[in-house]
Amino acid sequence: MEIYLDANATTPVLPQARAAALAVMADAFGNPSSIHGSGLKARALLDEVRATARRVLGAPNGRLLFTSGATEGIQTAVLSALSALRARRQVGEAIPQRLLYGATEHKAVPEALKHWNALIGLDLEIVAIPVGADGRHDLAWLREQAPGAGLVCTMAANNETGVISDLDGIADALRDSPALWLVDGVQALGKLALPLGGRPARGIAVREIDYAPFSGHKLYAPKGVGMLYVREGAPFTPLMAGGGQEGASRSGTENMAGIAALGAVLAALEAGDVFASAARLADRRERLAAALREAFPEVVFNAPFDCSLPTTLNVSVPGLSAKLLLDLFDAAGLRVSGGSACGASRAQPSYVLEAMGLPDWRTAAAVRLSFGAADDETSIDEACRRLRACGESLRATCQTPSPEEDDAPRRTDLLTRFVVDGACCYVVADAASRRCAVVDPLPELTERLAQWMRCRGLALAAVLDTHSHGDHASSAQSLRDAVPELLADEARPEGLDALGWPTGHEVIALGTHRLSRLATPGHTEDSTAYLLHEAGELLGVFVGDTVMPGALGRSDFEQSAPNAFGASLKTLERNVGPDALLLPGHDYDDRFATTLTVECEAQPLLAGVLRGRLSAHAFAVGKSVLERSLPLTEYQTMVCGARIDCDRPAERVEMSAAELREALRSTTRPVLVDVREAYEERLSPADELAPERVPLSTLVGELPRWMALPAQTPVVFFCRSGNRSAQAARALRRLGHARAWSLAGGLALWPAETRPAGFEAMAI
Ligand code: PLP
Repeated sequence: MEIYLDANATTPVLPQARAAALAVMADAFGNPSSIHGSGLKARALLDEVRATARRVLGAPNGRLLFTSGATEGIQTAVLSALSALRARRQVGEAIPQRLLYGATEHKAVPEALKHWNALIGLDLEIVAIPVGADGRHDLAWLREQAPGAGLVCTMAANNETGVISDLDGIADALRDSPALWLVDGVQALGKLALPLGGRPARGIAVREIDYAPFSGHKLYAPKGVGMLYVREGAPFTPLMAGGGQEGASRSGTENMAGIAALGAVLAALEAGDVFASAARLADRRERLAAALREAFPEVVFNAPFDCSLPTTLNVSVPGLSAKLLLDLFDAAGLRVSGGSACGASRAQPSYVLEAMGLPDWRTAAAVRLSFGAADDETSIDEACRRLRACGESLRATCQTPSPEEDDAPRRTDLLTRFVVDGACCYVVADAASRRCAVVDPLPELTERLAQWMRCRGLALAAVLDTHSHGDHASSAQSLRDAVPELLADEARPEGLDALGWPTGHEVIALGTHRLSRLATPGHTEDSTAYLLHEAGELLGVFVGDTVMPGALGRSDFEQSAPNAFGASLKTLERNVGPDALLLPGHDYDDRFATTLTVECEAQPLLAGVLRGRLSAHAFAVGKSVLERSLPLTEYQTMVCGARIDCDRPAERVEMSAAELREALRSTTRPVLVDVREAYEERLSPADELAPERVPLSTLVGELPRWMALPAQTPVVFFCRSGNRSAQAARALRRLGHARAWSLAGGLALWPAETRPAGFEAMAI
């Protein structure tokens, strides 16, 4: 069963609210504008909900409009304020020149400011109000700017961090300001009292809120309903004109089912029998925080508890990316989010945490846990239990500094790939001898690799670079320095050449596995390929940047040997054959591995030189043309080759759950592969599917096995959400197995039914 800890993104619908909405749809479906009996009933309900809302919000006066949600409320408020400013300017009045918004506001606010400011031709300056490390507005700055502000927007509580704004302090800073004041009350509703309707701030009525938008779906009502409070006397311009509903303030037939549901939530708030008290919520936060500390002893909390909503915890864990934590929590059935939900599909650092001045690693690795005030105790207890299980799973799979078990590498762990911004580092680990070699170490991985090897009890036999990099110094020595106790004799720095190869050795032995080398000058003078063999069989070739999926390494910089490149490619083909698995130094498009045959299809230059159609010189000339305008890069300072075929539309590889069920019944049963990492799989094994388990990080080593399957055998990859499995399926298709698939939506849609804990138990 899933435990839903993403209440700041949206909440489930309270059973009372569901019942109220259904009753409206079933029985009281009238249009409140109609004057017959059905209409009058609907009108009565509308009036009743509005009256409840006024009591709950402490807003007996002013407008209280039902909207489609907070985004609409924000547009209406901004349009109203900006139209009033424009009207004043049109009659020749001098107006303030700035529009201010808190740097951590929900994007709906600055985007609405930009949109309406441009659209109505106001063209005022839009400026973010800085916040401190605690996420609260810089009141001194605001006080200084307040006289020149036409509109000030400050949220009551932040959706990512839960930080509660000092509204009394803001009211005081705006005491003598001409500015209108918008307070986004979305995350505060039901959790904090807002000073609407002139509640005196610090005992003196200094300033009233002019506009306050709210959203139903953040407080157990359905999506598509919200409210906007507008102070009596504050400027107002309708966003929507039409049939004159809501006293012509917001035309459009009312969303009666949504309003009825919101009414039920507001009634529950007023009755005080559904939502937990502030003290109880604070106790739940403490329990969750304790579980987090136990699971991840180094966890940091990104907002101070004493000025944030007790229902929000924003955390970062050193060494663990947000993506890893999200996958881990999801495997444990804990639904949390990275940063805010709107930004969740893009792996970008949180602008909210950036505005607070937190270090980069914390802004990029942040994860938010948010629970609702109507959640039950048992779901919090269960959440704590699962958080602890997450910590145990990481320790048991060597992902944290304090592992619990000694996890010897399995067969499928022979080859592990680590990727940083498209740059690939590989570890070859021989299970039997417990010896490993690292190829192309990356500075960002030093700590992680050291811990990974230590936890597995591996001896480090070699740290090899495939070339001396044009854009960064090798981190091989810092990796050796990080694990002196693991260094095998031949890996000691004294006897190594510049790329880390032990001088005088023909091969590096890792149990039954052997690494040998092959000079392939071109990308650099010293470019070298490393060949991995077992019992005479070639398992793969680390080719560095000589050949990448869809690109050849650039050869236009100082260390390059452009005229040797063509011959090196021929040498490579002669030594490894056209179909050997090539493991590249960069993989910008998640293709994992390639072969010369596949690359000849994609890259005419390569085909030309290998098939003898191009001389080494003509090849070098053609290549230099391609590289003439190579841009600066995603990794470090330069792109490592001209990419040829990355702009093709991605092939559709998704197979629906229904199609997979069908395929499982057919005579050629598909090969099912779970590509989740071991720490996820431990928490939620997909045993009923009886899959092979090949974490994406070890996928490269297994590709040849699936490439060799009969063409008609489907291979279906799956993961948590379908992203990683789609990468795997595309990679295998590119390598020639046309029947590679990815389970659409991953395990999240298989089986299709899930429901948050605690909700069925509630009486309707
Ligand atoms: N303001 C805040 C603080 C929010 O958290 C959200 C939703 O994430 C919104 C505004 C937008 O609300 P709605 O989804 O109702 O448009």
